[in-house]
Amino acid sequence: MKVANGIEMLELTMNMMGQQSVIHPTLIWDENEAVLVDTGIPGQLAEFREAMDNAGVPLNKLSKVILTHQDIDHIGSLPEILKASDQKIEVLAHQGDKPYIEGDKPPMKMTAERVAKMLESLPEEQRQKIQSLFGTPITAKVDKTIVDGEVLPYCGGITVIFTPGHTPGHISLYHHQSKTLITGDALVAVNGKLLGPSPQATPDMETALQSIKKFTKYDIETVICYHGGVYKENANQRLAELVELR
Ligand SMILES: [Zn+2]
Repeated sequence: MKVANGIEMLELTMNMMGQQSVIHPTLIWDENEAVLVDTGIPGQLAEFREAMDNAGVPLNKLSKVILTHQDIDHIGSLPEILKASDQKIEVLAHQGDKPYIEGDKPPMKMTAERVAKMLESLPEEQRQKIQSLFGTPITAKVDKTIVDGEVLPYCGGITVIFTPGHTPGHISLYHHQSKTLITGDALVAVNGKLLGPSPQATPDMETALQSIKKFTKYDIETVICYHGGVYKENANQRLAELVELR
């Protein structure tokens, strides 16, 4: 889905733990850079290829990947994407999640025990498929760590907004030209409604709710939630409401 010139919200179907849902990585580009924000679950390289071709930005043009955080549904296809590209892709993430992404620490949520438990509950054929996808930890090297307030000089400027809570190094992004806020999992959209972070998936809810206050500093036309997609209706007002509601 085209959000504005040079920014496209991708729509990929994810099948995880027997549950199907749609996830929304974002592609931002201009003549110098093509930036992908988040990389789906393991095994989605072909879907990324197709979605990027459709957007007119083939995978080989990709120059940067920005990870909002360490969770498996955000870093899953990164190793495959890096391998598939002819050119070097720079990977950016916050220091707080870097050790998890690089495999120096085990992932906070998809622990080995949780994977084992999930596998137990599945029928044999599914079990094999899931095991091949999630059985080995996904890791990738982070080339550059990014900090709160940093304006990345890509595609007319992308501001890093540090929004911990969902994970310790969670970030959101603001693309200036299109006035788009990319929330990662700091917010979700459900049936067209913009909501706070998902309580089941957010270990430090108190911090996560503090974090969303930062969004009210920006003039936002479009919000992209990784889970739930685009929200456009009076975004600034709705964000102010969410902060007040807590
Ligand atoms: Zn997620």
